[in-house]
Amino acid sequence: MPKFEYAPAPESRSIASIAESYGLFIDGKFTDTVDGRMFKTISPASEEVLAEVTEAGPADVDRAVTAARRAYEQTWAPMPPAQRSKYLFRIARIIQERARELAVLESLDNGKPIRESRDTDIPLVAAHFFYYAGWADKLEYAGYGTSPKPLGVAGQVIPWNFPMLMLAWKIAPALACGNTVVLKPAETTPLTALAFAEICQQADLPPGVVNIVTGAGDTGRALVEHPGIDKVAFTGSTEVGKQIAKACARAHKKNTLELGGKAANIVFEDAPVDQAVEGIVNGIFFNQGHVCCAGSRLLVQESVYEQVIDALKHRMEKLRIGDPLDKNTDIGAINSAAQLAKIRELSKVGEEEGAARWSPPCELPAHGFWFPPTIFTGVSQAHRIAREEIFGPVLSVLTFRTPEEAIQKANNTPYGLSAGVWTEKGSLILWMAARLRAGVVWANTFNRFDPASPFGGYKESGYGREGGRHGLEAYLDV
Ligand code: NAD
Repeated sequence: MPKFEYAPAPESRSIASIAESYGLFIDGKFTDTVDGRMFKTISPASEEVLAEVTEAGPADVDRAVTAARRAYEQTWAPMPPAQRSKYLFRIARIIQERARELAVLESLDNGKPIRESRDTDIPLVAAHFFYYAGWADKLEYAGYGTSPKPLGVAGQVIPWNFPMLMLAWKIAPALACGNTVVLKPAETTPLTALAFAEICQQADLPPGVVNIVTGAGDTGRALVEHPGIDKVAFTGSTEVGKQIAKACARAHKKNTLELGGKAANIVFEDAPVDQAVEGIVNGIFFNQGHVCCAGSRLLVQESVYEQVIDALKHRMEKLRIGDPLDKNTDIGAINSAAQLAKIRELSKVGEEEGAARWSPPCELPAHGFWFPPTIFTGVSQAHRIAREEIFGPVLSVLTFRTPEEAIQKANNTPYGLSAGVWTEKGSLILWMAARLRAGVVWANTFNRFDPASPFGGYKESGYGREGGRHGLEAYLDV
């Protein structure tokens, strides 16, 4: 059947104003670097340069940590909690007011479809600030003692897949608990963090409470290893997470790590197939599969294997790939040339290992970084594509016969961030959830997030929880 064609429906790009060049946000002001240099951030959908951004050097990081320390001691920690709460509510409201602009900025810098930045990322960012604004003056009821104390200055390093959402996950609970922060966004997606710096100014947040230092791995390392940091919060790859855990252990710093994943999305024979297929598509093609908790391993019960794969292929033929700012787009651009190379390499390995590769026919734009939605069938547990995180729109399909076998296969991974279960039987959902070694288990849905719900990993997916009451613990001296 021919694909239904939509006329282009581009969101207005002009709603987001991007400066030619950005300094570092330290002590409430944008300042020039003292020992860093400039680099460019591009749109992954067109490779066009969006802005020039600062790569902070160690002296810049030191200035930011000093400002955060001063603000912690003199302003933020002594402030009555209800006052802190007001600032967080104010930030949440400004995010809502500027939501359209922030969504455009996020899609331009990251490559994700505007439908997702507009309907998922930015609303969740605001929700997160609202949620933790509510906790700020109720910490003594959170279950961490009658007078819980903040930790001090938090150094926070985040990845590029949900740039502003990861910023919210880090900054909102830290501030609610009375800490001040120095945050480093990922090098390929600094723009919404810099817009957030403007929002802090707009909200009259006292100088030094939030500091944003842009840069790459070296800047991140300088921040993590700075002796003035009391707590490190990191989201990113397991490889870098291990280095950070070592550095924190040496310096006796508290730390929480949110790392990679290789989640199993498990479909039983009694699941409603069309609904499950939507969940499979959402599980692996949402945000181009750049999702730590992506359902990248599909486990299908053998009796419905053909039915599910046929329906999945049929659905994949309808996915629209292209301009992230087009409101019809389902799949946007891969975030960087480096990530695209990694996805291509692992997909090649999948073929070499003997799995069958399939993508729907689709035209990819001439410029930018693109990869078609892809599934591999005939995958065995030993295959690298079943074990390693691809972090792209690539699904590995395996089968099982019994719930016990599904559990054994699902847990056969060094990771443990999330899992999905599709069945009509409530008792089976509970049986599975009790046995899956994963921080989040979704039942008959996938990739659902809520600020009130804790999120985090088992094993090499990291430790510590973000979100919910549990997320406060990471920023309190308990
Ligand atoms: P990455 O680890 O390369 O980079 C993450 C951040 O760390 C970036 O800001 C980077 O500049 C910085 N960094 C790099 N080297 C550093 C070092 N030595 N010291 C300090 N900071 C350093 O990861 P990435 O490629 O940007 O992100 C993708 C990874 O993040 C995936 O593995 C994904 O699963 C994971 N992730 C996890 C979660 C979660 O909540 N568990 C959420 C999103 C992404």
